Amino acid sequence: MRKLNIYHIYPDLLNLYGDRGNILCLKQRIERRGIETEVFEVKMGEKFDSDNADIIFIGGGQDFEQDVLLKDLKGDKEKALINAIESEKVLLAICGGYQMLGKYYKTHDGIQMDFVGALDFYTIGEKERMIGNYAFKTDEGTEIVGFENHSGKTYLGNNVKPLGTVIKGFGNNGEDKTEGAIYKNSFCTYSHGPVLPKNSEFADLLIKKALKNKYDDDEIISINDEFETKAHKSVINMYINS
Ligand code: GLN
Repeated sequence: MRKLNIYHIYPDLLNLYGDRGNILCLKQRIERRGIETEVFEVKMGEKFDSDNADIIFIGGGQDFEQDVLLKDLKGDKEKALINAIESEKVLLAICGGYQMLGKYYKTHDGIQMDFVGALDFYTIGEKERMIGNYAFKTDEGTEIVGFENHSGKTYLGNNVKPLGTVIKGFGNNGEDKTEGAIYKNSFCTYSHGPVLPKNSEFADLLIKKALKNKYDDDEIISINDEFETKAHKSVINMYINS
């Protein structure tokens, strides 16, 4: 039987606006396909065995939590994260977790946190926050809805692609219409909410990529998504028609 191991990094500190719901959603959608799954939590001071991970999740957190984690992150966890990202493990990071994978984050009051640098981007904080329900579209045409609340403006370098183009809201910086970042099988977004239950197509994309990476077999049976799809479509229609 196929099995996917989900690793939740800093589950107690990085968990804003129901980000933990992404773990529940992945677990449900994997198990409903008859695939086994196990969730491992990696807290501060604990070892992250990235070789055993198939899907890695990092939620959002405020500047304060990011600063609290910095020392712990810069030890073995940073190396394990880079190793996982480079070996094409599937990773989903939200907002503060997203920012932590980039080169640095300079807060609006001038404190610079040098982060993992696994992905080619940096973030500059502004006093004015970017807050609200928003939506964006991936290059493949998948529309994703969510909620953003950040002061950080993220600017992408040449070695990453944006996850999508903003339909409504701010996205990475409120300037260039980009939202999130993709590098190998790492997906970063500002979307809280949590993002996956509202966007089942995106959830299944991550599951399929993890199966492909581990088993070279990404077949999954389709499951009844009627309610999720209706909720998703009603939000998209509201934005597109507003
Ligand atoms: N501290 C970051 C910012 O305000 C991230 C916030 C979040 O994760 N919602 O930009």
